[in-house]
Amino acid sequence: MTSASPLDEICRPLKQCRICGKKDLVRFLDLGPMLLVNRYLTSTDLHQPEPKFPLEILFCRSCFLSQLSVVISPQILYANYAYHSSISKTFQEHCEKMANDLARTLDLGEQDLILEIASNDGCLLSYFKTFGSKVLGVEPAHNLAQIAKSKGLRTITRFWDQSVADDVVMQYGKARLVLATNVLAHVDDLHGFLRAVASVLKPDGVFVFEVPYMVNFMNRAEFDTAYHEHLSYFLLHPLKIALEKNGFVLADVHEFEIHGGSIRLMATRGGSLPGTGAENIQRLLNWEEELGLHVESSYLRFASHVALLKEELTVFLRALKIRDKKIAAYGASAKGNVLLNYCGIGRDLLEYVVDDTPAKQGKFYPGNHLPIVSRTHLHDIPPHYLLLLAWNFVDEMVKNTAQFREKGGRYIVPIPSLRVI
Ligand SMILES: [Zn+2]
Repeated sequence: MTSASPLDEICRPLKQCRICGKKDLVRFLDLGPMLLVNRYLTSTDLHQPEPKFPLEILFCRSCFLSQLSVVISPQILYANYAYHSSISKTFQEHCEKMANDLARTLDLGEQDLILEIASNDGCLLSYFKTFGSKVLGVEPAHNLAQIAKSKGLRTITRFWDQSVADDVVMQYGKARLVLATNVLAHVDDLHGFLRAVASVLKPDGVFVFEVPYMVNFMNRAEFDTAYHEHLSYFLLHPLKIALEKNGFVLADVHEFEIHGGSIRLMATRGGSLPGTGAENIQRLLNWEEELGLHVESSYLRFASHVALLKEELTVFLRALKIRDKKIAAYGASAKGNVLLNYCGIGRDLLEYVVDDTPAKQGKFYPGNHLPIVSRTHLHDIPPHYLLLLAWNFVDEMVKNTAQFREKGGRYIVPIPSLRVI
């Protein structure tokens, strides 16, 4: 008998659909073997081997959930997570508005416990705390939990599961509101996760969560948001099935522009909520079907479009290089690195990547080893073109680099279709 290699323990193939359990899965997008794009490298890491894992999305013909073909061990992905909620001003504003809206809709009081799963650095909970409600966070990344604690937010440093839920009920009682923003896409055992949420909610409690919306992924060609942390790509249809299987009633849904287009779902243990929830839900379910997102052929068409984007971008960059143009990139995001690695764009085509996050500066992108530098490089070693890797912040990035533009610099926007501005 041969023993499993360490890589097999890190990476496990998906055997059946995460929601309906069927094996009727069809692969539609293959972004190739991909390294873990959130592991930024120091100069001493550059000589270490970097394992690659399949990055493929499968479509379930039965419940219409799109999901990665493999699951990477969460201990590897989240021990020290690089994404801080509070760094993005847009996300802060989103959190503040969300807290205000929910406090009003649910009439939250001082006695109500508000629990957030994957509370990150406490960005969202800190707004709820200002209303005087009791708040509690659960966050597995030690570095982020520490930041939240330093803001005076009680935080349990663990992965969410039934044992955490039981401990919360025993120590703090049941929650009136459970929050989870951008968490469910990261969860392998979705049913276990939802069952644990149900067990921690009061009978009149509400579970509110946000996920990136698959409709936007498809319509805006956001294929670069596919990376190993994102296990599922949700339509409303499969989410409704998952909620109902675990004792919830889907009560309302809203769309938001955050993170390239997300939906917020509100689920209860049986009751309805004030407002037009039933109509909102039906409208999105109908829309998903009208867009053809219940059939495999739409996904295959999407994959052809992605392959075409890759072709156009690489041909364009190579043509610039032949004309001796210098090209740099802006925005050392995880999705930026998915794009570069998928397209095979590296140091042969790009000089460096500018990023405004101090913690990333001085480090290197995994895989292509492009150096990540501060904005001052644009003045010191000016490129002719700047490839914008964070398409959700194009306006902000153009505004930040006024001098580069005034000196005749041009921008390349790769997604949803190649544009030069
Ligand atoms: Zn399914």
